[in-house]
Amino acid sequence: MTEPGRAWGDAPLIFERSRSGRRGGRVPDYGLPKPELPPGLSRARAPRLPELAEPELVRHITALADRTFGVDTGFYPLGSCTMKHNPRVNERVGLLPGFRDLHPHQEDEGAQGALELMWTLQGILAEVAGLPAVTLQPAAGSQGELTGLMLMRAYFADRGEERDTIVTADTAHGTNPASVAMAGYKLERVETDARGNLDLEDLRGKVDERTAGLMLTNPSTLGLFDEGIEEVARIFHDAGALLYYDGANLNAVVGISRPGDMGFDIVHYNLHKTFSQPHGGGGPGGGPVAVRETIEPFLPAPVVVREGDAFRLDHDRPKSIGRVRGFAGPFGVFVRSYAYMRAYGPALREMSEVAVLNANYVLAKLRDAYDLPYDRHCMHEFVLSARSLKRDHGITALDVAKRLMDYGIHPPTVYFPLVVPEALMIEPTETEPKERLDDFVDAMQAIAREAAESPELLKEAPHGRPVRRLDEVRAAKQPVLRYAFDDDPAFVG
Ligand SMILES: *Cc1c(COP(=O)(O)O)cnc(C)c1O
Repeated sequence: MTEPGRAWGDAPLIFERSRSGRRGGRVPDYGLPKPELPPGLSRARAPRLPELAEPELVRHITALADRTFGVDTGFYPLGSCTMKHNPRVNERVGLLPGFRDLHPHQEDEGAQGALELMWTLQGILAEVAGLPAVTLQPAAGSQGELTGLMLMRAYFADRGEERDTIVTADTAHGTNPASVAMAGYKLERVETDARGNLDLEDLRGKVDERTAGLMLTNPSTLGLFDEGIEEVARIFHDAGALLYYDGANLNAVVGISRPGDMGFDIVHYNLHKTFSQPHGGGGPGGGPVAVRETIEPFLPAPVVVREGDAFRLDHDRPKSIGRVRGFAGPFGVFVRSYAYMRAYGPALREMSEVAVLNANYVLAKLRDAYDLPYDRHCMHEFVLSARSLKRDHGITALDVAKRLMDYGIHPPTVYFPLVVPEALMIEPTETEPKERLDDFVDAMQAIAREAAESPELLKEAPHGRPVRRLDEVRAAKQPVLRYAFDDDPAFVG
């Protein structure tokens, strides 16, 4: 909790702290000639910059940095996002000069180590998915989805088949229907049954010769492994359709079960979720895609290949859907994920086992304080509902989430998946020790008690953060992006 009396919201803007003539450190005047700018390149007026003493500047920036929250400041159980700790050794490896200083246009012969790393990473990912061929190009899960759908389209076009529909679950992440629309497919949505699996009856009625494929997360966004997955795969394959695996929840199954063995034909990984990349600030991410032999010819080019002891980028792929990203993909991300996987080695399975154990531990401790819509063992995450708190005390999932901030904990994902009212989607990850899980359990239980005893406390939470409740709609629709510069002609245009 923040110390009492700290006036977060009252902090002045840096321009309000500015005093004319104040300045930071000085450097001596060496009397060197002033560089001359070509005409037309110099400003008409000096830019408007804040003028502060150096310690004041440092304090201002440090105070802003103090307000941010990340996995380095506290527990971050944001469901579906897998906010695990990123081992610092990955950064050390990524900063090795041979990786860091590599130019994207470097010839293959001069980048053998980097190509070997990419080739080996492809191999590890293929083993994890249980599928033979991998492209590292897509920059995120959502771009992997689009790439996967483009691969489906190319595959069916090559066979002369016309198929126009993709099936998703009603628990699907928003990127799934968005990717389906972007790829020019029609969307068919299948319901979830009472146990949290795909409803097979509903599904059978929605798959026919127009169906190109299924897009599914397994375990689902409910944190549940689909018990009917083999039957689901049979239904699609019998109809000549393909199965796409949204790998956002792969953290639950690595080394335990493989999407390829479940019947999936195309898989994306979110390297920034499962394989330890700093994320949450907008990237960079990685969304490699693995496919079956039959789809390999269509993979984005170039592909990293090995010939004897040499590695090269193979551009000669006549059936390829083409490039989906510049150069060879997000290379720094590959290095960090590779370092992370190699640190586990053959024990990578433990990562998923502990993630599942931690989630079930927290679930067992919270099941009496909140509603549990699907009463099963969970995988690496689980979904609770604040439905009873709302009915009995008028306290919503949003109120619970905001109050958690006062306990120094990042809120879980709320109101998703859509099939659960007042949803709280909790993913502890494997990197948290038992003490932090217990802190979270204590906070969640305390909040459930507060809901009954002092609901007004929750309605106004958070109390100790820079702002209370934001107008989220207005913040999205009327963003103020140019506050300090709006009236400054030097910055207009
Ligand atoms: C995060 C996520 C995605 C999208 O992945 P990005 O890498 O953020 O583009 C898709 N599906 C699910 C279930 C997710 O959690």
